[in-house]
Amino acid sequence: MPDVVVLASGGINSTVAAVRARSAGKAYLLHADFGQPSSVGQRAAVRAIADAIGAAAGLIELPHVAKIAGVKRSASGKVAIDPKAGPALATVGQVPGLAVALLSAAMHFAYRVGATAVISGASEQANEIEMEAAPGGAQPDHRREFFYLAGMMFEQLQRSRTPISIESPLIDLSRGEIIKLGNRDGAPFDLTYSCRAARDVACGQCPACAARAKAFAAAGLVDPALTSQRA
Ligand SMILES: [Zn+2]
Repeated sequence: MPDVVVLASGGINSTVAAVRARSAGKAYLLHADFGQPSSVGQRAAVRAIADAIGAAAGLIELPHVAKIAGVKRSASGKVAIDPKAGPALATVGQVPGLAVALLSAAMHFAYRVGATAVISGASEQANEIEMEAAPGGAQPDHRREFFYLAGMMFEQLQRSRTPISIESPLIDLSRGEIIKLGNRDGAPFDLTYSCRAARDVACGQCPACAARAKAFAAAGLVDPALTSQRA
């Protein structure tokens, strides 16, 4: 399999997608920092996961997203939202159209490294669970239709005869099924980071931690990130 770029948040889904891509060939784990409070923990997790699975790690920064959302990050990594910037967003990750910006940057990155696919670990079912756990927390760009339309759009924009494809191999799986799959393939779940509380240690309380605990329970497993030294 040719080289691929995996959009990596450091969480469960993208880690399982990365492990599966890596087992088939060379993979670049690309983390996007768009001002989200959890980016510091996420990028550390992505680096550790990439090392553990023998993949390359890359970072893209989208400071314009943070600027438009009114997010300011101090040198220590602390994030504050400027109330004068406009209506507050529950999280900076909910900026409408953010996924298009991420895919666009990932396409540029894929082109530069000669990869033939950009892979997202998004799951429609996991998205629905997050919506239940935290109203407004789920993202419309984690839906099958979005990836279908985005794939068509980027195909139209490429001149190459072998265009870079957009793939979302986990889109129909529940989070529990994704964990089972990752467990079978040796995904380093102990290194993953999903917390939205922007702490070094997973809080175990936020909607992301709650959804994650529920998914591990559904898979009949214990979340190793809550019991490892790092978490
Ligand atoms: Zn948390």
